[in-house]
Amino acid sequence: MAKTVTIMGTKYRIEYKTAAQDSILGTDADAYCDWTERRIVLRDPKDAGGNLGNMDVYWKNTLRHEIVHAFLYECGLAENANGTDAWPKNEEMVDWIAFIGPKIYAAWAEADAL
Ligand SMILES: [Zn+2]
Repeated sequence: MAKTVTIMGTKYRIEYKTAAQDSILGTDADAYCDWTERRIVLRDPKDAGGNLGNMDVYWKNTLRHEIVHAFLYECGLAENANGTDAWPKNEEMVDWIAFIGPKIYAAWAEADAL
């Protein structure tokens, strides 16, 4: 059964593929979010390799990053951004949320703000 994640009430499939199976994946992209088909595609870690100390941490962050893209698509911000340089498509901002998201969530939980 395919893994899914619920984004603002909408299910997204999480798929793992090799670069040979998906031409978008490869040297420039380890993952992407296709809102038109409600799916997040990640490169199969066995196919991608990698030389960071803990690749599991890298892949979890990559998945969080693509989930942030899905949230921006589902809430309509990505399509109302006045161009690719606008903030909802800025990779630094999306990565920031992917990195800081767990800490923000923990702070919300600690503060009983959820
Ligand atoms: Zn991105």
